[in-house]
Amino acid sequence: MSKKQCMENKENKILIIDDNQVIRKLASNLLSKRNYRVELAQTGKQGIEMARDLAPQVILLDVMMPEMDGYEVCKRLKADDLTKDIPIIMVTSKTDSIDKIKGLEIGAADYVTKPFDHGELQARVATQVKMKNLLDELEEKNTILEELIKKDGLTNLYNHRYFHERISEEYNRAMRYSYPLSCILMDIDHFKKVNDTYGHQAGDVILKTLAKIITKNIRQVDIAARYGGEEFALILPHTYIEKSVVMAERIREQVEGTTFYFNDITIKATISMGLACFPENKPASYTELIRFADESLYVAKESGRNRVKTCLTSQTSAS
Ligand SMILES: [Mg+2]
Repeated sequence: MSKKQCMENKENKILIIDDNQVIRKLASNLLSKRNYRVELAQTGKQGIEMARDLAPQVILLDVMMPEMDGYEVCKRLKADDLTKDIPIIMVTSKTDSIDKIKGLEIGAADYVTKPFDHGELQARVATQVKMKNLLDELEEKNTILEELIKKDGLTNLYNHRYFHERISEEYNRAMRYSYPLSCILMDIDHFKKVNDTYGHQAGDVILKTLAKIITKNIRQVDIAARYGGEEFALILPHTYIEKSVVMAERIREQVEGTTFYFNDITIKATISMGLACFPENKPASYTELIRFADESLYVAKESGRNRVKTCLTSQTSAS
């Protein structure tokens, strides 16, 4: 089977909306021969419902229909998020040239004229099916790409750049609506030693496992990112320092209690964490919120590691 035939056999659905039974039958026969799954609607209203349910690759739409005509059906399909990207081929009578332009103006992809030239109908439908499938494929790839450029390849958490984008947004929102926002920075203690002793692959195991522990302990609204080599960052919207400390402590304890396995080696690791919160710590900007968290992390490191420090306690102990 050729690639082209393969594409055509992939459940390509065509919806025919036409009030005339003879035309429906003729078009249906012509398109069934090309291995499309053909569905039929007799009225515009029925057609719109079926388009939403079936998500066909292409709609063949008659212009002249009682109650709701093809133009109105086309407008409604184009105004609906569910159906707006389905190419519509308008079916008009050969004599009416104004019809064709009007159809294209309101968003139809193409038109065919009655009586059908069999080959032309099949060719025009095939073109639109191909375009639709290519666009679907492209959209799918774009979605994957959009997700990929936000992510860190190793841990699958968000990356540094996305973290900054989001914390700036979340900070503005927190200011505007007066709700708290916490930021946590964390760092794996003596990580360089792990890499030096067991190699980078062992280090990667710890990074990946830590990412899983973090993901398991945060809420859907929280944002977890790999901030740098062995540094991670969390954004916790709607969260005061007290609640963030609870979450941070839980993560810290779980890391401490975890045995990391690499080949036949077992490794233990701990993390240090620094917290800051808006508005409690009165940061003047989101960058200052991050800086406060970073300073707290520094204090956690300096005071013995494997601990959580908040901005307030760090200020106390620093003074
Ligand atoms: Mg008609």
